[in-house]
Amino acid sequence: MMNLIQKISGFFLKDVENNNETKQAAVLVRILSFVMGIYFLFQVIVFCITGDLLLDVLSVVCLAGYVHSFIGTYKERTREVRYFIIALTLLWIVIYVYLLGWDFGVQHFLFVLLLFILLTSYFGTAKKVLVTVGLCVIRLSLYLYTFFYLPVKTIESGNGIFFQSVNTIVIFTAVAWMIIFVSGHSLMMEKKLIDYNEKIRQLADIDPLTGLLNRRGIIEKLLQIAPEGKHWDTEYINIAIVDIDFFKQVNDTYGHEAGDVVLQKLGEILQDFMSKNGFIARWGGEEFLFVFHGINGDDSMHKLEELRKIIAAMQIEHENQIIRITITIGLQEHMAGDSVEHTIIEADKKLYIGKQTGRNKVVF
Ligand code: GH3
Ligand code: MG
Ligand code: MG
Repeated sequence: MMNLIQKISGFFLKDVENNNETKQAAVLVRILSFVMGIYFLFQVIVFCITGDLLLDVLSVVCLAGYVHSFIGTYKERTREVRYFIIALTLLWIVIYVYLLGWDFGVQHFLFVLLLFILLTSYFGTAKKVLVTVGLCVIRLSLYLYTFFYLPVKTIESGNGIFFQSVNTIVIFTAVAWMIIFVSGHSLMMEKKLIDYNEKIRQLADIDPLTGLLNRRGIIEKLLQIAPEGKHWDTEYINIAIVDIDFFKQVNDTYGHEAGDVVLQKLGEILQDFMSKNGFIARWGGEEFLFVFHGINGDDSMHKLEELRKIIAAMQIEHENQIIRITITIGLQEHMAGDSVEHTIIEADKKLYIGKQTGRNKVVF
């Protein structure tokens, strides 16, 4: 049973997964065509039984019209069938009121039509108001007409009650179904958009080569834990800049591709190292930025010294060649009241001292 319901719903919602805006219109056309199709199928049978040839022919024509609209949405013709369905619905309402009078109750379908037009159009508010006024005027005109003129056909009062009930059920079904779909659909689209934005936002913060945060990403994170101009909690923050020594030589000796592999491999190791201590970013070409959080300067220094030794002893294999690198690090404690930028500049100065005094060292 659930399977069947899923299949039917899938059929109605076909292609709605697309972010294409006309898909909402397509599903609404299907809903309206389907409900109205059932309604006219019912009429065809009833008028066949009562032997009313004119109404029977009319309902057959309407049935065919709605079937045509329904099928049209699966053939990428939603725009055309939308206009068609609006014209058809308006036309038969007018004809029915003219033939059967006010008591038959089809004028209420104008509400369904109004809802359909408003939900499927991408007009601005002014045009939507205009459509509303237009349908309102049509309804009032129909009322005035029936006030002065008797219907062409008279329906027995018993049949009147019967049709009023059927009309009510059909109208409620169409209105509720359309609104339920649209409210669910718009929430779904909004959710999609939120997820998509989040993905874009994350991508904007990520360095594609190493998968680490980039400059933008780490500054954002840093400002979260150490908002500028404010004193944050007692936690220590230390910032280090890591730069590979003579990296240009690695590129020159082994090729740029090998250089990339070294950056990726080193990125993984540094990420692993920092996962327990704070966070890390690829700061630029062959430079990385560390943010130690909750660890004082001396402890950060010790950890970095350990890391430096590990890297110096490491062998990176690439296409049967062994590549060795060393790193130089500048470490600076971040003080409350200082700007993040200032601390980074200080760390960079220390890195420079390290480069000047022999490389492969940590300067604190
Ligand atoms: P130093 O010890 O003074 O830091 O020397 P160095 O050669 O590392 O410094 P320099 O700044 O002169 O050169 C950095 C090199 O890093 C130059 C550039 O080709 C290389 N580089 C920067 N980004 C990338 C990258 O994404 N991939 C590769 N393969 N190389 C890169
Ligand atoms: Mg550099
Ligand atoms: Mg370098």
